[in-house]
Amino acid sequence: MWRVIRPDSINVWSNEQVLTRLRRYYAILRDEKPAKMLVASKVEVDDLNAPLDKLWHQHQKASGKFRSLLREIDQGKVKLSDLDIPKTSYLDLKVELSKRILASCHFCERRCGVNRMEGKHGACQLNAKSYVSSAFLHFGEEAPLVPSGTNARDSFWRCNLFQYVYV
Ligand code: SF4
Repeated sequence: MWRVIRPDSINVWSNEQVLTRLRRYYAILRDEKPAKMLVASKVEVDDLNAPLDKLWHQHQKASGKFRSLLREIDQGKVKLSDLDIPKTSYLDLKVELSKRILASCHFCERRCGVNRMEGKHGACQLNAKSYVSSAFLHFGEEAPLVPSGTNARDSFWRCNLFQYVYV
C-alpha cells in the first residue's frame, strides 16, 4: 500500500547520495545484512552481576569485539547464523546497564536519581515500565524510512525526551 501512498519511498533509493549515506540500512531492508542488534546478541560477555564499573569495563571491551564482528559480517567473512548464541551477550549487558541506570535514574538531563526499579517516579512520572500511548502505521516519515519496518510508531507516555520508538 505504501507504494501508492508514498512512491517517493521507492524512488529515493535511486539517489546515489541517499544510498551512500544509508548503505547499511538499505542492505538490512533487503535482508542482505543483519541488524546491529542481532550482531550484538552474538557477542559474548562475562557475568552480569559484576559491580557497575566492571560492567562498563566489560562494555568497552565488548564494543571492540562487536565492531570487529560487524566488520567481518559486513565483509562476508562470517555468517551470523554460524555463530552460537552466548549465555550472556553484549545485548544482555546493555539491558543490564539500562536497569542499573534506572536504579538511580540519570537517563535524561534531569538526573532525578530516583530508583525507578523500585517503582519510584522522577520528573517524568515513569517507573521502570514503558507506557505506550499510541501505536500506528506511520507513512509520514522521510522517504527512506517508509516502509522499512520503521513505519509503526509508538509514542511513549510522558517522557518528552524519548518520545518515539520505531519498530
Ligand atoms: S525525568 Fe525520568 S528519565 Fe529523566 S532522570 Fe528523571 S526519572 Fe530519569
